[in-house]
Amino acid sequence: MTFVYEKGFGFEHEMGEKGAGLIFIISAPSGAGKTTLVKEVIKQVPGLQFSVSFTTRLPRPNEKEGKDYHFVSHSVFQKMVKRNEFLEWAEVLGNRYGTPRPDLKKLEAEGVDLILDIDTQGAKKVMKEIDQPVLIYLLPPSLKVLRERLMNRGVDSLEMVKFRLSNARRDMEEAYGYHYVIVNHSIEDAIEKLKSIILAERCRRGKPLILEENKRQWEEKDG
Ligand code: 5GP
Repeated sequence: MTFVYEKGFGFEHEMGEKGAGLIFIISAPSGAGKTTLVKEVIKQVPGLQFSVSFTTRLPRPNEKEGKDYHFVSHSVFQKMVKRNEFLEWAEVLGNRYGTPRPDLKKLEAEGVDLILDIDTQGAKKVMKEIDQPVLIYLLPPSLKVLRERLMNRGVDSLEMVKFRLSNARRDMEEAYGYHYVIVNHSIEDAIEKLKSIILAERCRRGKPLILEENKRQWEEKDG
């Protein structure tokens, strides 16, 4: 085949100006700085959209309906589960969270990539449902720093901080099943790394990003 380069040849996403219909999943223990990171990268990377999940938890003071989450009652959530409207859903700390099914063909046609901020249970389910999502795990620099960040946020009691930390220890082991790991030493550094991963994935051709052995062990652990 003769390679004739012309506009519209199908490599436009390589310029980083539009997406390629990719699904990025980012997970982290709470307090690692994921929300700030994702918000900043969405602002800076063209063609990247946030997948707004549905949740039964109540909005926090700074959160907006339809932007951070769609806040719904337990009965609405249950109806959506029955109608199979979620790509995946999970219970996290007593509340339910669900990712609406994306229209993958439309995303690709429109040059949009989606970023899903979901926990590790959700990531495993998405891996079974769709082809080659890109999994990124955000780690805090240490448990000590994570503890300090949770304390300084001032939203949790000491008991809750302890509970989150013990969950975090277990959750962080799941990083081994992810394709990329970013350590959040500084937010600027983490932003650059996440942007680089997204741009590199837009340029990558063909080779599946599968950590076969890790994926097998990971799925076995989950049952
Ligand atoms: P938060 O209540 O702090 O916003 O989120 C709690 C946890 O739920 C976070 O780890 C977040 O990534 C996760 N989460 C948010 N949306 C979803 C979702 O749609 N599905 C799953 N599985 N987890 C989610």
